[in-house]
Amino acid sequence: MLPLKEKDKPIVQKLLSAGCCARCILRFCCTRVQAAYRQPQQETLKELLAFISDTENSKAPDSAASVSTGENKSHDASVSEAAEQPASKRAKLEHNETNAGSEEGEDAAAKSHVCVVCLGILQEFCATTQAVKIAEAVKAEKYEFDTLVLSVSLPAQLCVREHSCWLHVKKEVRDKGLVLDKDDIIPLKEAFKWVVQGLVAKQLGGVAVVTKSGLEVGVEFTHEATDGDCHFLASVCPDCFKPTKNKQSVFTRMAVVKALEKIPDASFLRHYPCPPARPSSCCSLQGVQCLHTSVFIAGRYNKFCRSLPQTPWVIDGERRMESSVEELIAAPVLSSFRAEGFNFSSSGREDVDVRTLGNGRPFAMELINPHKSRLSRVEMKQLQETINESSDKIRVRDLQIVSRDAMSRMKEGEEEKTKSYTALVWTRKPIQRDDIIFIGEIKELTLDQKTPLRVLHRRALAVRQRVVHSMNARFLDPHHFHLELKTQAGTYIKEFVHGDFGRTKPNLCELLQTDTDILELDVESVDVDWPPAIPE
Ligand code: ZN
Repeated sequence: MLPLKEKDKPIVQKLLSAGCCARCILRFCCTRVQAAYRQPQQETLKELLAFISDTENSKAPDSAASVSTGENKSHDASVSEAAEQPASKRAKLEHNETNAGSEEGEDAAAKSHVCVVCLGILQEFCATTQAVKIAEAVKAEKYEFDTLVLSVSLPAQLCVREHSCWLHVKKEVRDKGLVLDKDDIIPLKEAFKWVVQGLVAKQLGGVAVVTKSGLEVGVEFTHEATDGDCHFLASVCPDCFKPTKNKQSVFTRMAVVKALEKIPDASFLRHYPCPPARPSSCCSLQGVQCLHTSVFIAGRYNKFCRSLPQTPWVIDGERRMESSVEELIAAPVLSSFRAEGFNFSSSGREDVDVRTLGNGRPFAMELINPHKSRLSRVEMKQLQETINESSDKIRVRDLQIVSRDAMSRMKEGEEEKTKSYTALVWTRKPIQRDDIIFIGEIKELTLDQKTPLRVLHRRALAVRQRVVHSMNARFLDPHHFHLELKTQAGTYIKEFVHGDFGRTKPNLCELLQTDTDILELDVESVDVDWPPAIPE
């Protein structure tokens, strides 16, 4: 039995006459019993007709004739029999004629069984065949998942139609001293999900369709024939419809809802039929889009090669180096997670000719639309080995899945961190023992660094201060030594050594009072304690 009350009777009568489907009528009766929506709509219609004929004084709806079932036409006979009303016998007759295809154009619209409010969403699209379609689209993508969330996109004009139907019953309800608050009407999307979620879940073999899940299955409906329903709103409420760059139409659902909140009833009724005109066709299912939320992974990388950029190096559309750190790491990762794309970030970056040694540089990757989102500890270890075996130019460690929030920790306080380097330095003047001692005694030296010439094309001109915490020189031959430095993150080491035409002050040339140049540079450590180390 439908959970309807006496007060619902006028609503049911009015909406049946207007051409609403059985499930939309339940929505307008504010029924929250989900099972009522899940039962076959023919059953519901039968019960609704019985419900309104159940009172001596009740009138038969003027044109229940056009009440739709649509889902399974063979049930119509039983509907009319059960209802035992002339009106519903007429329904059967007309329905058969429509099926025979003898009407066209407006005639067909008048006889249509498509609901005036939901345009078939709660009729045809609540059938198992549609659930199968959705499930097949999901299966084809081969995601590994155990829950999904269904997101439904409906044409904006459904809001206009719903508003019109609400006005249609509101007066009647008010005349009887009752209220029908628009907010109490069960949203179409909700009713649709109540029916369809279970069907889709069943097709997917027990996968739970829930309200929050990493896998979002988007179902989009359109109904071109009634797109014009919204247009009058633009002239009545022009300020609700401002053109935006990335939207195809100004008639977004949000804008339409906003306009409907503003428009006075009288003005709406002047511009739009109440109840809405009968549509001659159903909505169409535009497509099923699956999207999995991003997975984030992190680790540390070493770079052993002096001709490998961190990211693809492209100048004027032409590649300069055949590979990059991020590509070498990304290829095996993308195939493991079967992801569509990635965003790479790291704690600072090294130049193409600089090696990164020691424990390596922390990095993180966002994997976009991964079809597999969980890897076991063992699988993760295997993935790391695959990366390491694929190239001797790089090596990764501590590879792990992290949260999106954890990723921001890598960038936090980056500037305050310490980095250690070793530079191979050349000097014009032969190096003295005193020079070596002098360098080792310098502590907490503050540098003023003007944006280096080599990066001026992509960074604004500025002077920034960085601190060299300590240095140590190791003699190689009279013109070469290894300079070990501990500095604040972000210090331009090359510029400190050669001076960058005086743009870095003080610099090593000034300190040693001779020309110096940097021949090689290695990052020895990046002191960021993230991501956590994973014991080998
Ligand atoms: Zn409907």
